[in-house]
Amino acid sequence: MELLDPIPSTRAPVDLFTGEVWFDVVAAPPAPARLRANLVRFAPGARTHWHRHPGGQSLHVTQGLARIGTRDGRVVEARPGETVWCPPGEWHWHGAGRDAFTEHLALWEHDGVDAEWGDAVSDREYDAPTTEDPR
Ligand code: MN
Repeated sequence: MELLDPIPSTRAPVDLFTGEVWFDVVAAPPAPARLRANLVRFAPGARTHWHRHPGGQSLHVTQGLARIGTRDGRVVEARPGETVWCPPGEWHWHGAGRDAFTEHLALWEHDGVDAEWGDAVSDREYDAPTTEDPR
């Protein structure tokens, strides 16, 4: 086994995220493992750009109130302890609510690429009313 050196917290790239977002790498083991886990912290109103993951992604909320949206206009809110599953290839975004810092654990498999990225999420898309409970 190997006790890994700590990795400093990293500011998420400004060309892929809106607002201030920081992440800590929780797990990124070498091949043949494909496991990836990041603890992501969003300032109020901050969110990812539109993107999709080849193998899908689980988002497990640990603090605050997360907002997750998809291309069909659905926006769900998820609370600490709740998990949202984004299926392989589904365009989506995730971030904080307007009023509070939000933290989630992002879990996915690295299969050559982590994500394909698109446009920024507009305020209109971000502020859309929630449509349903994720469960
Ligand atoms: Mn994602």
